[in-house]
Formats: sequence, C-alpha cells, structure tokens
Amino acid sequence: MKLEQIELREIRMQMRTPFETSFGVTQERRIILVSISSGGVTGYGEVSCNETPGYSYETTDTAWLMLNDLFAPAILGHDLEQPSDVLPLLKPFRGHPFAKAGLELALWDLWARAAQQPLWKFIGGTKTDLPVGLSVGIKSSPEALAEFVVQQKALGYKRIKLKIGRGRDIAYVAAARDALGWDTHLTVDANSDYTLEDTDLLGQLDQYKLQYIEQPLSNDDIVDHATLAQSLETPLCLDEPIHSLGDVRKAVQLGSGSVINLKIGRVGGHTESHKIAKYCGEQGLALWCGGMLESGVGRAHNVALQTLPQFTLASDTAPSARYWLEDITDPEITMHGGLTHPLGGIGIGVNLRHDLIAKLTTRVAVL
Ligand SMILES: [Mg+2]
Repeated sequence: MKLEQIELREIRMQMRTPFETSFGVTQERRIILVSISSGGVTGYGEVSCNETPGYSYETTDTAWLMLNDLFAPAILGHDLEQPSDVLPLLKPFRGHPFAKAGLELALWDLWARAAQQPLWKFIGGTKTDLPVGLSVGIKSSPEALAEFVVQQKALGYKRIKLKIGRGRDIAYVAAARDALGWDTHLTVDANSDYTLEDTDLLGQLDQYKLQYIEQPLSNDDIVDHATLAQSLETPLCLDEPIHSLGDVRKAVQLGSGSVINLKIGRVGGHTESHKIAKYCGEQGLALWCGGMLESGVGRAHNVALQTLPQFTLASDTAPSARYWLEDITDPEITMHGGLTHPLGGIGIGVNLRHDLIAKLTTRVAVL
C-alpha cells in the first residue's frame, strides 16, 4: 500500500485525577495522534511518551520534532507490502521508539482495516478474556492508600500495582496488603528509585508476597538487577531497560528478572512486541502489557496486543473511565468482572470522536 498522507495531531486531555509516580505528577496528557491514509482507508496510532523526560528521554515535543521533520517525510510516498516494511526506512534514525511506534501502530491499523479484519485477529491473537490490572499512583499516606485500594478491589481488578518511591514504600505496601488480604495479586513498581544499597530494604517486601517488584533499580540497568534477584524471593519485573528482543535475551542470560512489562511504544511498535512475546513464551517468562496513560486509541492497540497467547499476567488496560471524563473513542475501553475483551470492529475496533478531538487539538501537521 502506498502511504499517501500522514497527519500528526497533538491533543491535550485532562486526567480525572492526578497520577503520581516516583518521577512526578501527571494532570494533563499531551498525546500525538498519528493518521496514515492509503486508498481511502485511514489507520490510527498514538505516541504515548510523557510530556517530560521522566519515564524515558522522549517527550511529546521531541516526538513531534522527530515525526514532523524526519520520520514521516522518510516514509511518505513509499509503497509497502506489510507494516513491518516501515522499519528499514526508519533504521537510519537511532532511538526515539515512542515516536516511531506512532507511525508503526497506524500502519498495523491501516492494514487490518484494509483487510476488513479486527487488528487482534490480524496479528494472530487468540485470547478473548483479558485480565485487567490497576496501577495506583502514590497516595498521601498509607491509610489513604489502603482506603483507595479497597474501593478499587471491589471493582474487580485482577491485580493491583502500587507505585512506590524512596521513603514511601514498606509502610504503604504493608497497609495495602493488610487492607486487601492475601488473595489479591499485589505488585509494586519503583520506577528505578532504588540502588543495590537498598537490597535489605527491598528484601523486607518479601513478607508481603508480591507477584513481582517492577524496575527497582536504574532505568538502564539489567546487571545490578541480576545481583538483586539473587537476594530476593520476590520475582523481579523489568520495564524501562527493555527496548528490543535483544534486551530481553540479554536479561534472560543474566537472570535479571523473570517477568517482562511490555510497552508497545517503548519497543517501537507491534512488530518488535510480537517478537518479544514469542521469545517470552519460549523462555517461560511471565509477560504483561504496560500502560502509559493512553487515550482510547493507544489503549485499543494495547488490548489487541494482549490477545497474543504469550501474555500471562494482568495488564494495565484499565477502563477509559478510570482516567478520563470523556475518552476520544467510541466505544470507550470498558471492564466487566475484572476482564476486558478484544474489540469486535475492524482495525483497532474503535471509531474516533472527531468533534471532541477537534476541540482538544493544539496543533496539526499534514504531510
Ligand atoms: Mg513500570
């Protein structure tokens, strides 16, 4: 298919409540929607990096610059046999996977729509009951956290993940475990706030029988994680340092963790995600799909990805209403009994609410 037109559109969405992690508070999301058209069909992708270089070095503004000045011009007008053919065209440009993923996701949606198939079937998905986990931002006190997680558990979530940070860890986890009881899958995500010097402190978490501890050490590390893993009973989950299949392979060789949080934007799109999922299945690694506070477009791509059989743990695809007063897609992503299901329509299975999107738009570029 010939890539005839590419549109970049930045929208600003206000979150229902602020979301705090070890690197800051998010109240407003600045999201780039990418549309690619060919033969009267349009596919949609989303750039889901943060507004500031907290989670990764990429930001909404760096992604816009890369897409507008380099990546979109490099692929526009090319005639591709399949979505993954875009990767060699982007290979001259190092890094910036979230920006590249915006294009790559739009192409997968475009191809599935042209084939008149739901994306999840188009990529070989088989799972239809997808367990939903909740990611809970850091709260003002252990008591406030305990109260909040009990309310959320009642909604049916299959796993509750607590964001923790230095000084806001053991007492918070203890309060949450005490309030939830032992039958809830409970995890923590430190977003790299600790070092090997904190090994004893992190070891105290073993008593709370967490499903895993996510990314306790540096965002670019898999070596110290292998050392830490030997001192803990709780499995380690890797997030930030995993950018490719090669990174997962090296982590397996070192013994850095037994759980992978796969974020579609962090690895550059569906093509690399599928390779990683296949490898995790072969190696017996537990796998789930992480979220980046996406709109319904990015969330729909995440739902499609999780239908691959190698996804074994609850993923971060909480319903739209958890984050937004109004999502930009119809239907919104919903959850029933702690499960979400693949969307039945063609492509990513959602229609874009173009009137609402127009109101939220702050800039547009059409190539
Ligand atoms: Mg994480």
